[in-house]
Amino acid sequence: MADCIFCKIVKGEIPSTSVYRDEHAYAFRDIQPAAPTHILIVPQRHIDSVNALSAEDEGTIGHLFMVAKQIAAQEGLSERGYRLVINTNAEAGQTVFHIHLHLLGGRQLTKMG
Ligand code: 5GP
Ligand code: ZN
Repeated sequence: MADCIFCKIVKGEIPSTSVYRDEHAYAFRDIQPAAPTHILIVPQRHIDSVNALSAEDEGTIGHLFMVAKQIAAQEGLSERGYRLVINTNAEAGQTVFHIHLHLLGGRQLTKMG
């Protein structure tokens, strides 16, 4: 997607603070962190949102969670705890339409809603 900021971040056309990269995923620090650790984990291939997922994306999405688990361990959060969030569309506050998993931790997180 030519005008997608996360596609540009994946390609290095927009700078980001890299946390992890492999063939399918990229993880980088959120520019406006909502917690001491706030990392975004994205597939390198553009997918708009959870609503746009098809059966062939199942492996990709599962992989994002495996990456999240690994990063949580690297950040020292496995035992303390952390939260994984995917916002979808307006009422959830999705602002970037390239699917991404938020990894939040490093402080006591409040209940959602
Ligand atoms: P959403 O609201 O769509 O669930 O999450 C989008 C996230 O992307 C927000 O937390 C926002 O701070 C982050 N973000 C938006 N633009 C950029 C950027 O250019 N660089 C980085 N690192 N994060 C960004
Ligand atoms: Zn994209």
